[in-house]
Amino acid sequence: MHELAIAESIIDAVLERTGDRSVTVVRLQVGRLSGVVPDALTFCFELATAGTAIEGAELEIAEPTGRAHCRDCDVDFVVDDLILLCDCGSADVEVVAGRELSVTSVEVA
Ligand SMILES: [Zn+2]
Repeated sequence: MHELAIAESIIDAVLERTGDRSVTVVRLQVGRLSGVVPDALTFCFELATAGTAIEGAELEIAEPTGRAHCRDCDVDFVVDDLILLCDCGSADVEVVAGRELSVTSVEVA
């Protein structure tokens, strides 16, 4: 499962910085175009933190909306799925937000 690998790399990155301190909250940014399902990620996170200093920590996930910029008509528009087409019909668009996948903050006890 894709989300399990992501959860494990998040946990490794957090543990690397927090060491043995007990972690109470982990905040993430998971963009709507990142391809990651927040519910599945939360499930995997809970599984994979068992026995670590992060066990029992709350996972807070922010989901930034996808945004793209059309090079043909020079407007920004909201993208809710992976179909990157401007209203003008152009596919010459650049994703400017929504692919985030990062830890934004961590709280330790
Ligand atoms: Zn356009």
